[in-house]
Amino acid sequence: MLFSELGLSAELLRATEKQGYDKATPIQQQAIPHILEGSDLLAGAQTGTGKTAGFTLPLLQRLQASAPQGYNKRHVRALILVPTRELAAQVAESVQDYGRYLPFNSSVIFGGVSINPQISRLRRGVDIVIATPGRLLDHIQRGTIRLDGVETLVLDEADRMLDMGFIADIRKIMKAMRGQRQTLLFSATFSKQIKQLAGEFMHSPMEIQVARQNATAEQVSQVVHPVDRNRKRELLSHMVGEGNWRQVLVFTRTKHLANRLSQQLESDGLSSAAIHGNKSQAARTRALADFKKGEIRVLVATDIAARGLDIEQLPHVVNFELPNVPEDYVHRIGRTGRAGMDGEAVSLVCIDERKLLTDIERLLKRDIQRVVIPGYEPDQSIKPIPIKNGRNKQPSRGRHNGRKRNAPAGANRGRNQAQRARRAA
Ligand code: AMP
Repeated sequence: MLFSELGLSAELLRATEKQGYDKATPIQQQAIPHILEGSDLLAGAQTGTGKTAGFTLPLLQRLQASAPQGYNKRHVRALILVPTRELAAQVAESVQDYGRYLPFNSSVIFGGVSINPQISRLRRGVDIVIATPGRLLDHIQRGTIRLDGVETLVLDEADRMLDMGFIADIRKIMKAMRGQRQTLLFSATFSKQIKQLAGEFMHSPMEIQVARQNATAEQVSQVVHPVDRNRKRELLSHMVGEGNWRQVLVFTRTKHLANRLSQQLESDGLSSAAIHGNKSQAARTRALADFKKGEIRVLVATDIAARGLDIEQLPHVVNFELPNVPEDYVHRIGRTGRAGMDGEAVSLVCIDERKLLTDIERLLKRDIQRVVIPGYEPDQSIKPIPIKNGRNKQPSRGRHNGRKRNAPAGANRGRNQAQRARRAA
């Protein structure tokens, strides 16, 4: 179906044309008419399906068609809540792109950067705010943002916001909104908690689903290479070099390994950078821009930092380590094979990760093909080391029997997963 058949305004059609799109993706075909009619919407869609345009285009059209409620330039008219800064920046870019022929102002609000420029921007008047929950709440508490005029609220990647422990923040934000509004909730997965949230804040939402829940994109070929844990890096460098891969996104479970691996790849002669929650926003933005330009060949990322990354035509994703949470596998490999392109997802799996692999295959309801690379056959005599909280739990060394002096790396990390995830983001 063409965008021109969806009842969008001339300004929005011009903007989609400028982006180079004429056909609407399945989520856009389904979501746009419901949103234009004013229904609340519960949409099951992963990144890579075109969901951002699926809510941005009709949201802009509704703002265009209606007069602001009780107009006051400090009233925000549309609020888009997202889990991470990267996603906020990307959604903001889409809002700018699709709204280029419309008179609306938009602004992005996230933590990790100074709040003052955000305050002055809000003071000047912003129609559309794209925000992460923590910093938005900060603005609400300081009285620097007014949400009682919000006409449309979007919760994007709602499952991830809940995984990151934002539920209490979201409830407080909802309270600050009052009044009638349209609520749109996008999520890759639908847990009981998501349904409960929808029940609390939405009015008879229309439900749409574009891909089977937890399905991985069909264009993405998936393969597992069994390999010993201490030969993964060598195998990765070998594959990037042999295959002449120009742009590869590599996932690790921890920030520490992301840094170390990136340095090691550099010393193997592969230009590389790491992105994770301990890097400044400026460093993350720069690394991503260099990667997109092709100046960095290997981008090493943790799950949260990579969340929502939109890199056009990314052909290779490598799981250097499998994720602890099987759903993250689906999110990770969703970075490739986007918008109809072919992609390849490679997982380097050592003996410690057998259970993680089984969990992923159970979620996908299919087995992933194993291919042993000649020269990298796993050593059958190696014993597995259990993985806890994202790290291998090394047996304690030294003479400190029973004492926790050398507590295994990460042993204290599991206490508050949500808090950790928020900090990491
Ligand atoms: P999203 O799922 O919103 O992260 O979008 C995934 C990618 O698809 C982005 O690079 C979009 O720019 C692109 N995209 C969105 N809509 C279309 C469309 N109708 N045709 C082709 N590509 C699209």
